[in-house]
Amino acid sequence: DGSGTANIGVVGLAVMGSNLARNLASREGNTVAVLNRSRSKTDELVAAHPEAGFVPAFSYEEFAGSLQRPRTAVIMVKAGGATDAVIEELVRVFEPGDIIVDGGNALFTDTIRREKAVRETGINFVGMGVSGGEEGALNGPSLMPGGSDESWATLGPILRSIAAVADGEPCVTHVGHDGAGHFVKMVHNGIEYADMQLIAEAYDLIRRGTGKSPAEIADVFAEWNRGELESYLIEITAEVLRQVDAGTGRPLVDLIVDQAGAKGTGAWTVQTALSLGVPVSGIAEATFARSLSSHPEQREVSRELPGPAEDSRDALRVDDVDAFIEKIRLALYASKIVAYSQGFDEIRAGAAEYGWNIDLGRIAAIWRGGCIIRAQFLNRITEAYAATPELPVLLTAPYFVDALTRAQSAWRDVVATSARAGIPAPAFSSSLAYYDGLRAERLPAALIQGQRDFFGAHTYKRIDKPGTFHTLWSGDR
Ligand code: NAP
Repeated sequence: DGSGTANIGVVGLAVMGSNLARNLASREGNTVAVLNRSRSKTDELVAAHPEAGFVPAFSYEEFAGSLQRPRTAVIMVKAGGATDAVIEELVRVFEPGDIIVDGGNALFTDTIRREKAVRETGINFVGMGVSGGEEGALNGPSLMPGGSDESWATLGPILRSIAAVADGEPCVTHVGHDGAGHFVKMVHNGIEYADMQLIAEAYDLIRRGTGKSPAEIADVFAEWNRGELESYLIEITAEVLRQVDAGTGRPLVDLIVDQAGAKGTGAWTVQTALSLGVPVSGIAEATFARSLSSHPEQREVSRELPGPAEDSRDALRVDDVDAFIEKIRLALYASKIVAYSQGFDEIRAGAAEYGWNIDLGRIAAIWRGGCIIRAQFLNRITEAYAATPELPVLLTAPYFVDALTRAQSAWRDVVATSARAGIPAPAFSSSLAYYDGLRAERLPAALIQGQRDFFGAHTYKRIDKPGTFHTLWSGDR
């Protein structure tokens, strides 16, 4: 009946939900109702954290009864059918004006569908991206809520109180309506894939080019973390490389099977980009690199394929190790700028397609804390959009043009060296190809238009006169 004592509830008490519930409970003025499908998780959480003052519920009726109106519940269950099942239950026991928030990793098109269906009952539905893993959920995530303005009015203060804080600002903003929050979270994950792949390529080139040990390369990354590459991912890379396996005394990275896993958000980002016609080549290469790594049967039969001749491998015989490492640092930075520029391009295109009013500079700002791609670098993106809100390509902002100008010759060297030495650097090289594609005066797309007109009468436009043309090619039937 809405006369309960809790002002917010959490459904789904696995690692993310229980940590988010504890985060909420730790904030002044919050009383948190908790519910989980199987009773044991609820009992364990409540017993382990008496200080949180949780209000446990063991049915949806009890859960609804324990919440003040408008009732607000955050769902943190397995994405997909489980989320639909929980929504159905909540819609049954909630009333118009109440708010259901899905904090799981939903596909944004599911969120659009759910928002529409739930709205018809008068209940508000908010799809919210939550970044930062379990640690973020507990101590401060980056939050990307979509949904209506009405929901944001109620949710805003609560979310601001639990979000990560960067430079004094909570890492949360009302991203846009319906699926906007989950869309932006999806692209965040895609960028994360690209960032990780670029770091991995840099590591591989240093290792194979200089023969440095993982621990020595950890020092390189720790050093980089004091400069313009400063970020959580660079920081943890140093930690991972420094880790020694207690049993064997060997670097742990050498004992880990070299097949990268994925939960699918990178693939969603690329699939969506393909539909929107946005070239997120860095994110795509990063996603494909994980796929390639995960096919041991193909790699096994391919091991004997010829590589570069001995003298080409000299490409990697590095005389000046420090200079080589500095080139890789510059190539990494330039490729990272490309990956972020492509990601923001996808958000811009998604906003246009789905009618969301997304403040791109704010998105960069809320990624500065809590989430995996947090970095000082994001301030530069916020500044770029503050200076030119309609910036068509992020990497053309003056700061990035300067950085790319500084990096470009090293970037080209690194890509050429990797190709000559036979070391795969798909994200480095595709980023450079994207950069050169954008800056090209003329692209061979003209030839493609000719081919299309030849075989399919698809027509073409001319540079010297208006209109649409079809040629009776000499080979035409
Ligand atoms: P999870 O392993 O994805 O899901 C387990 C939870 O879902 C349990 O509470 C489980 O209840 C519940 N559940 C499963 N099927 C259900 C159904 N049919 N009806 C009701 N409840 C059901 O948990 P998680 O790792 O904590 O993640 C929760 C959500 O956050 C997911 O959507 C995930 O993608 C997202 N997320 C995760 C991370 C991360 O770093 N892990 C980061 C951001 C977002 P029972 O206990 O009864 O089985």
